[in-house]
Amino acid sequence: MRLALLGPPGSGKGTQGAVLRAHFGIPHVSSGDLLRAAVRGGTNLGKKAKAYMDAGELVPDALVLAMMDERLEKADCRNGFLLDGFPRTVAQAEALTRMLTERGAPIEHVISLAVTEEEVVARLRGRREQEGRSDDGDDTVKQRLRVYFAETAPLLDYYRKQGILREVQGIGKPEVVSTAIRAALENGR
Ligand code: AMP
Repeated sequence: MRLALLGPPGSGKGTQGAVLRAHFGIPHVSSGDLLRAAVRGGTNLGKKAKAYMDAGELVPDALVLAMMDERLEKADCRNGFLLDGFPRTVAQAEALTRMLTERGAPIEHVISLAVTEEEVVARLRGRREQEGRSDDGDDTVKQRLRVYFAETAPLLDYYRKQGILREVQGIGKPEVVSTAIRAALENGR
């Protein structure tokens, strides 16, 4: 099963990603988690990425694509994977399509978690209080949402045209959202 999860920051991608990982036994590959690990580890990539992340901007495509290509090459991705937070631009999506087509293993379903802007702002405020993520401050959150609507939302159309977009309401209890995701995957819509 090769899946990608799309949705604004705070739409529940992390939570649902963990559920899908357990359900399908596939790795949950989060570009944000990989970038945060690089920042913590003080790697070259981490040093280059940090300022963009703290400002709520996207890390340049070339850096993210190299990181994801390397991650998807690993043995645990051979039987499938769940992408979370990647792709985030049409250029990344096109590069991913090329990358996976070369391997004969394209994305099968793209799940879009639909959540209102008000709901995500409230959730991210809660997350900042609980987890203290440095990019969950009010200004950075607003910037991340602007970036999402400008750069990432156009991906919905990109995948809709390919017939692999599955749209799910992301509001409500996590279990309800998980059930809706599984139903959308089973029905292939
Ligand atoms: P996330 O945990 O997915 O919300 O990502 C946190 C931050 O990491 C984002 O605000 C971006 O700065 C950066 N990031 C994560 N994934 C990507 C990506 N696919 N392309 C560019 N930047 C990314």
